[in-house]
Amino acid sequence: MSTEIPVPVTVDPDNGRWSVEGIPMILVPRHMITNNLAAAEERLGHKGSANLIRDAGYRSAQQWCAQQRGFHGLSPDRVVAHYLEQLGHRGWGRFRVEEHTGERIRVALHHSALADRASGNGNGTCYMFAAWLEGAFDFAAAETGRPRRFAFTETSCRSTGAAHCTFHGKPIEQQN
Ligand SMILES: [Zn+2]
Repeated sequence: MSTEIPVPVTVDPDNGRWSVEGIPMILVPRHMITNNLAAAEERLGHKGSANLIRDAGYRSAQQWCAQQRGFHGLSPDRVVAHYLEQLGHRGWGRFRVEEHTGERIRVALHHSALADRASGNGNGTCYMFAAWLEGAFDFAAAETGRPRRFAFTETSCRSTGAAHCTFHGKPIEQQN
């Protein structure tokens, strides 16, 4: 049984380019993403790979949230929920915010698209999402006029035997 794609894909008839809700899209096979991550880990190690993609992932999440906030007229609080819901609709996995106290955020991720491979080094494989969560939660905090920066870590991963993946976030202590 299959279901229809839960995102409204628009294809430009002239140039064949895809977009979804005004954002240009490329459909790529999952193995292209995981092969890239594995190659970065081989070259740089787990931590080096995570550091390499962190800034780009963070910036991309912020760009996405800003565009979607304007496109849909979303409230700051709704932006993160919409972002996580859309990641689920696009096959990355099903994210759920289980706890959000302001001082502590816990996000569960079921069916992560990045957890079907083993890293081979005992570490989780979904660290790319940590940067995405940081970008999204920081964006929402800034939009509510209470700017904070959060640091997220994947604390358990399905790729290393957990039932599902879990991310913990906490505020970064600000200087001054
Ligand atoms: Zn994981």
